[in-house]
Amino acid sequence: MNKPTTPVLVAAGGSAVGAQRTATVAPTLGGAHAAPAVATPGDCPSPRSPGAEALAAANAQFDAAADHLDLDEGMRQTLRSAHRELTVRFPVRLDDGRVKVFTGYRVQHNVARGPAKGGLRYHPSTDLDEVRALAMWMTWKCALVNVPFGGAKGGVTCDPRAMSPREIEALTRRFATELEVLIGPDSDIPAPDVGTNAQTMAWIMDTVSMHRGYPVPGVVTGKPVAIGGSNGRADATGQGVVYTIEEAAGRRLGIPLAGVTAAVQGFGNVGEATARLLHQAGVRVVAITDIGGGVYRAEGLDVPFLRRFMQERGTLVGAPGTEPIDNGHLFGLDVDVLVLAALEGQITAANAGKVRARILAEGANGPTTPDADLVLHDNGVVVIPDILCNAGGVIVSYFEWVQNRESLFWTPKIINGRLREAILTAAAAVWERADADGIDPRRAAHAIAVQRVAEAAALRGLYP
Ligand code: NAD
Repeated sequence: MNKPTTPVLVAAGGSAVGAQRTATVAPTLGGAHAAPAVATPGDCPSPRSPGAEALAAANAQFDAAADHLDLDEGMRQTLRSAHRELTVRFPVRLDDGRVKVFTGYRVQHNVARGPAKGGLRYHPSTDLDEVRALAMWMTWKCALVNVPFGGAKGGVTCDPRAMSPREIEALTRRFATELEVLIGPDSDIPAPDVGTNAQTMAWIMDTVSMHRGYPVPGVVTGKPVAIGGSNGRADATGQGVVYTIEEAAGRRLGIPLAGVTAAVQGFGNVGEATARLLHQAGVRVVAITDIGGGVYRAEGLDVPFLRRFMQERGTLVGAPGTEPIDNGHLFGLDVDVLVLAALEGQITAANAGKVRARILAEGANGPTTPDADLVLHDNGVVVIPDILCNAGGVIVSYFEWVQNRESLFWTPKIINGRLREAILTAAAAVWERADADGIDPRRAAHAIAVQRVAEAAALRGLYP
C-alpha cells in the first residue's frame, strides 16, 4: 500500500526585494494539486497552537528589527515571508503491520546568502507554523555568525519516543525520499534537531546516496564521524552555549565562568552537552529537568553520572543524592545562569517575573516570548538570544559541510578554535551594537542579522 504522495511545493517570493509572488505551484509527484494562496505566513496566528505562537514571536522579533533598521516595505515583505514551503504526507508500515500516514514539512525561509540550512524535528506538536518560525530564526542565525547559508527547517509530526528504531528508520528513509526535491549539498542541508540525532542523519545520507548511486555526505550535517561527520559536531551547540555564557558572565557580571552557578532545562543534544561542559569548566550545575522530571542538588550535580543514569534508566528522576524538581521551580532558582535547552515558549509573561537568574542563556530556539522579554529586561536579566547562544551547532555544521566538499578533515583542536572565534566574534558584535544603539541584545542580534540578509538580497536584485 505504497500510496503516491501529495507534496505541495509553494514558492512564495524570491530572494530579491519585493519579489513576492502568490501561490505559485510547482510540479508535484502525486499529480496536480491546488496550493492555497500564500499571504504572509503567520499574519493571523491561532493563539492555540504552540507553532502559531512561535511564528508570532519570530514575526514580532523581525518587525522590531525591521523598525529599528527602518527597512522599506518591499524588503520587509521579502524577508518576512518564507521562500518555499513543502508539505508531504507519506505512509509508513508500523511494527504491528498497520500502515500510518505521517505529515512532514520543509520550509526554506530565505536563501539570499547561500544554500538553505536547518534541522529536522520529530515531535508530536510539530506543524507548519512551528517550522516556519524555526526556519526564519535559522536565516538570522546563519547571518549573525556569518556562515554562508540561508535558513530552513523541517520536521515530521510524530512521537519518536513511542516508535521503535525500525519504525523511525522507515519514517526517516521515506521522509528523506520526499525531501529530495529540495535537499542536496548545494541547495538545502538538514541537520539534527529535537527528536533526531546523528543516526537519523546517517539514514538520510544513505537514502540519498542510494538514489544517486554514489555517496553524498554533504547532503546532511551532524552525521556520525565514521561516515563523514565532523569532529566536535555532537557537542558543538552546547559548546557554543558555554562560550557565550562565559563571555556574558565576564562582560556583564564581571565573574569568571568557574564562579557561576547554573540550572538547565532539557537534557538532550543541547542540554546534556551544555550541562556536561559547564560542569567540566567548574560550574556548579544545581538543577536539570527534562520531559520526565528533574533533579536538584544544592552542592552541584554530578553531570557525567547523570548522563550514564539517563542512558541506563531513560530518566533523571531517582538519581542517587538528588531531590526532584519541576520546571516551575527550576525557572525560579537563585542561580547565576538559567539555560533553556528544551522547546519554544517556556518563559512567558506569566512566569518571567519569577526568574531570579542574572543570565538567561537560550540554548533552545524561541524559549522566551516577546512579552516575557520585556519583563526580563525590566528586571535586569541578561538574555543571551537564541540566534547567538545556540549558533555553535550551525557553525560546526558549516565546518562539516566544508570538510565534506574538500574531503579533507580537520582536527578537534582546529574545529574548536574556529568555533570559539566565530561565536565570540558574533557575541562581541551583539553586545557592541546593543550598547551603541541602546537596545537589548536580542534586538541587536536581529538587527545585525536582518541587515546582512537585506544587503545580500538588495545586491542580488530582483529576478527576472
Ligand atoms: P533533543 O530532542 O535532543 O532534547 C530536547 C530535550 O528537551 C530533551 O531532554 C527533552 O526531555 C527535553 N524536554 C522536552 N520537553 C520538556 C519539558 N516540558 N520540560 C523539560 N524538558 C523538556 O533536542 P535538542 O536537539 O537538544 O534541541 C533542544 C532545543 O535546542 C530546540 O529548541 C532546538 O531547536 C535547539 N537547537 C538544537 C540544536 C542541535 O544541534 N541539536 C542546535 C541549535 C538549537
